[in-house]
Amino acid sequence: MNFEITGKTKLTALLGSPVAHSISPQMHNEAFRQIGLDYIYLAFDVNPENLKTVVMGLKTAGICGFNLTMPLKVHIIPLLDELTPAARLAGAVNTVIIKDQQMIGHTTDGIGYMRSVSDAGYHIIGKKMTLLGAGGAATAICVQAALDGVASIDIFKRKNNSWDKVNAFCTQVTSETGCVVRLFDIENHSLLAKSLSESAILTNATNLGMAPDISCSPIPDITMLHKDLIVSDIIYNPKETLLLKQAKKQGCATFNGLYMLLYQGAAAFSCWTGKEMPIEIIKKKYFSN
Ligand code: NAP
Repeated sequence: MNFEITGKTKLTALLGSPVAHSISPQMHNEAFRQIGLDYIYLAFDVNPENLKTVVMGLKTAGICGFNLTMPLKVHIIPLLDELTPAARLAGAVNTVIIKDQQMIGHTTDGIGYMRSVSDAGYHIIGKKMTLLGAGGAATAICVQAALDGVASIDIFKRKNNSWDKVNAFCTQVTSETGCVVRLFDIENHSLLAKSLSESAILTNATNLGMAPDISCSPIPDITMLHKDLIVSDIIYNPKETLLLKQAKKQGCATFNGLYMLLYQGAAAFSCWTGKEMPIEIIKKKYFSN
């Protein structure tokens, strides 16, 4: 397909550090090309210290939106005019739209995860989730699952200095969404086993199992994984973590984080362009599982 940068080409971007490894520029530029949109997506290596200068410069130059990755998802918030309810609850932004000079912060990580669940053919609305970890990705998933109607979420994390903040987050999500979100110590193995026995889905949103430490699993005993449990890992490198291997052995349905990555990008694409990303083409080209 013919693709030329013109005087009218609209700019979108990824800001973060590092960004050189990101697949987002390929995904978005191919999607723009496939459906004939006069947009371009570039990656800029930006750190928290120069974020304000970069964002104000891009806004003045007429950028129509951008993504944020590590370590900028929280630093961007004071620079924005508005937040969606999900971004406000999660306390993090990965997508900004600029409209009428107003910068609006969205979070699409949770949308991406929930779409990856339904894409894999599972229905978890009205059911219980056990969520491991309470970092940026975990909180985005928790908020979106709660907003979408998951009945209850048990979060397991380490009892460290972020414990009180996460506890307050759980109280706030519970009171604003009606989904019961509770926090537990990840070292409390009997409560973890009980939570898993009651849950429809387990979501690993910790770093445990991510390359290069591929011999780690967040589960202390694989018999905790019952065959009716859907086991998902948001890690996509490696494609099959030790947790997913253990779950398969126990007869569980499993999926990894590749399509969460695809669908968070697709949601950002729609925010900027008002069009659907050509999912099947992008999936085939960049996200083969
Ligand atoms: P983050 O904000 O740094 O959070 C990391 C989480 O992992 C924290 O909750 C932390 O627990 C937990 N953790 C780390 N080491 C641990 C250990 N030894 N034992 C128990 N818990 C441990 O990172 P993030 O951005 O949320 O990313 C988390 C993972 O998700 C990464 O592997 C990342 O690649 C993946 N991810 C995937 C996608 C996708 O699209 N598929 C998107 C974003 C992230 P504490 O709270 O107890 O400190």
